Amino acid sequence: MSTEAIRLVWVYPDLLSTYGDRGNLLILEQRARRRGLAVEAMGVNYDQALPESGDIYLLGGGEDRPQVLAAERLRADGGLGRAVARGAAVFAVCAGYQLLGNSFYGNGEQYAGLELVDMRSDRGETRAVGELSGEVTPELGVPALTGFENHGGRTHLGPGVRPLATVTHGIGNDGATEGVWSGRMLGTYLHGPALARNPALADLLLSWIVGAALPPLADEWPSKLRGERLAALR
Ligand code: GLN
Repeated sequence: MSTEAIRLVWVYPDLLSTYGDRGNLLILEQRARRRGLAVEAMGVNYDQALPESGDIYLLGGGEDRPQVLAAERLRADGGLGRAVARGAAVFAVCAGYQLLGNSFYGNGEQYAGLELVDMRSDRGETRAVGELSGEVTPELGVPALTGFENHGGRTHLGPGVRPLATVTHGIGNDGATEGVWSGRMLGTYLHGPALARNPALADLLLSWIVGAALPPLADEWPSKLRGERLAALR
């Protein structure tokens, strides 16, 4: 395997990092290291320029005001779009997920997003709070999703845009679909953190960068956690 380090970029931890979403960074780092892959992880605050040479960019959840600030700053920076055009992968959660689209609702009005995926988010009649599970879009080859959601927004995918999953419990995008899969971008409403509860998603992101499927790891503890959380919904 390549000796070049996989570069993980945690985008704006000072604005977007609710419910332990930093765990997604730790899981990617650990799962790469356990396979002998070199990794470099960095956090980039919102007053810094976003490096464009990252391999995987991580965005977390956030309250409305930090989300609006992050959108303004990321639009002005433009680096995330250039990194994606270069082939970088993105894993975006909740507020970070909504930011990938054309527009989102926050702080009483609709704001422009990063326009990296044809989708838009508005506000639902209720807040979606609780466990969320779903069956992943089959081509991705990932087992059932599990996590928890806490958001007021609803997300509407444009024509031809694929969801990450169909909902089996909870709300996700709109009660029917959950998240988005577009090229090497994955967006989701899942916290937990998402990659701790769904390590197969972490491996999918890493395999996109490495260019090959990764050898399996002994996943006794994540399997127990997943089993318990999914069984609790039945
Ligand atoms: N502010 C957004 C919403 O409520 C995202 C919330 C979050 O990231 N938890 O829809």
